Amino acid sequence: MAFIPTMGALHAGHLALVEEGLKRCDIAVVSIFVNPTQFAPHEDFDSYPRTLDADIQKLEQVGAQAVWTPSEADLYPDGPVSDIHVSGVSEPLEGTFRPHFFDGVASVVARLLRAVKPDIACFGEKDYQQLQVVQKMVAEQQIPVEIVPVGIVRGESGLALSSRNAYLDEAQHKIAVRLNRILFDMAEKAAAGENISSIDSWGKAALEKAGFEKIDYCTIRDARSLLEPVAGQEKRILAAAWIGKTRLIDNIALA
Ligand code: AMP
Repeated sequence: MAFIPTMGALHAGHLALVEEGLKRCDIAVVSIFVNPTQFAPHEDFDSYPRTLDADIQKLEQVGAQAVWTPSEADLYPDGPVSDIHVSGVSEPLEGTFRPHFFDGVASVVARLLRAVKPDIACFGEKDYQQLQVVQKMVAEQQIPVEIVPVGIVRGESGLALSSRNAYLDEAQHKIAVRLNRILFDMAEKAAAGENISSIDSWGKAALEKAGFEKIDYCTIRDARSLLEPVAGQEKRILAAAWIGKTRLIDNIALA
């Protein structure tokens, strides 16, 4: 059985995880739960889009067999709590800017996996660091499941699909589509042998020029540790940047 944990407001990115699950297993189970422990008090927990009826229709269309919409009490009988910490890979990048986030993700994903007991669980590379944290969490917690990474699904413009794209107006959307293009430009510069720290600076400046109001990070990192890149090891370019009140993340592999 394949399991696909989500927070709902489903789009083609989520459905690609279901399709991957159904390629590998007979049954795909999807959970929809907006997890309070991964939102900080100032974040968008209350306004996060909730579209259950449309979500269920989409899941029927791709052939998922079951949808689980746990209540808060199902997962957190003693109230919401972040009680699983994954050290190391959770600390840079997102860990710096959203310090509560990965403890919340690890705590809910462990509970979901222990309840559903799937053979595999599919996670999107859209949340690349989350994928690394989940891999480490299941190893540390000895949860017997194979974590399957699924590539990022992008819209025609190249913008990575995200439930939070719904917050963008037309002008903001035009800025948003620049994000992945800038990451690809950074990859080209790296392929041409440019110095990594100057590529990082170029990327940040390019995002500012494109209209992003705040850049949390835009950087080339080691693809596993997400620390400074190491010569000869796989690398990843990752960015998080704000347009108005919307925070976008994206990443690409570096050949
Ligand atoms: P979320 O509902 O945002 O928590 O996402 C649930 C799962 O869908 C996570 O594993 C995400 O990485 C994955 N996901 C979200 N957007 C995309 C996308 N554009 N492409 C691939 N996977 C995605």
